[in-house]
Amino acid sequence: MQYNDTIDDSRQYLRLTLELIGKHGLPTDPLNYCIWYEYASGKNEALNAAIDKHLESSGTFSEEISRQLFNLHIANGRETVTTLVREELKRVFTEIISAIKTTNQNFSASENHLETIHESLVPSLSEADVDKIVNQIKREIKNLESSSTSFKEQLQQATHEIDELKIKMARYRNEALKDPLTRIDNRRGFEKKLTDAIDSASMSNTSLCLVIADIDHFKKVNDTHGHLVGDNVLRMVAATIKDSIKGKDLVARIGGEEFAVLLPETPFEGAMTLADNMRRNFERLDLKKKNSGENLGTITLSFGVATYRKDEAAEDFVRRADEALYRSKNAGRNKVTGL
Ligand code: GH3
Ligand code: MG
Ligand code: MG
Repeated sequence: MQYNDTIDDSRQYLRLTLELIGKHGLPTDPLNYCIWYEYASGKNEALNAAIDKHLESSGTFSEEISRQLFNLHIANGRETVTTLVREELKRVFTEIISAIKTTNQNFSASENHLETIHESLVPSLSEADVDKIVNQIKREIKNLESSSTSFKEQLQQATHEIDELKIKMARYRNEALKDPLTRIDNRRGFEKKLTDAIDSASMSNTSLCLVIADIDHFKKVNDTHGHLVGDNVLRMVAATIKDSIKGKDLVARIGGEEFAVLLPETPFEGAMTLADNMRRNFERLDLKKKNSGENLGTITLSFGVATYRKDEAAEDFVRRADEALYRSKNAGRNKVTGL
């Protein structure tokens, strides 16, 4: 997000920002300041829609919600990408336009000189005059050549910059599908891959399974050891799940402490076994604090497994895996349920 507000506007937004932060009982830290400044300015539509939706459904904000809003709609949001691309494109266009103007001016100047030379071609010219005129024409041709060479170089440079921009855009697009904390796919990335996996399973008529895993009592980890340790646990869980899968299998972080594993060409029994192996792995894993080596004990995860049903909508498929997960939670956690 670029801030081009006038001093008066930014003061007005600042006042509103502080009012909003106060109204929702939030700490006036840079994260909240950034979120609510953008909300107050009304320029980040996706952020405003997400906040309004959240206000309607729950009305309260936690540190975690703020972080998610920031990651999704400010740090990693599409808005930022389009703004960046737009700004760079503007710069490249300005360069091209200025190159065209300069070349035009050079060509006009040459045209004038050549016309003057043309007019001086009268029958009474001496040999010396002709020599002089020939030299003048040669000089003008050189000028024209050099103008067109530098124009060509500037166009090549602009083409190169546009190519770089294309690469950058592809990288940004890819980044928007990644979770910055764990470096695996985020919810948006998952939804994209899910659609592809469903299409491919339908075409090849093969079995596709979905496992959703949620860390049990994760709030307690944060409450006891703090958010930074919580974040490291999330990284560790993502890496452990990633290590448990192979080939075409995919893992994504689809919620705060919730992960999805897509298993193409996998029968239901295979997915159940894989989920149970993962569950056991976590049960056995003794967690230690990264720097002090202090023991954090173990964490457990609950799992829900579903097999794709022919012609089912993606949302229904996910809903069934979620429902299975919910049953694992209700049955006491650290369980695998299949639906
Ligand atoms: P349950 O067994 O029912 O799943 O309990 P839970 O505590 O895991 O679930 P709950 O939904 O009550 O709380 C989820 C917690 O996950 C709360 C939030 O602080 C934490 N969390 C979500 N995202 C992050 C994150 O990015 N980092 C950290 N450190 N914690 C997160
Ligand atoms: Mg949980
Ligand atoms: Mg959860």
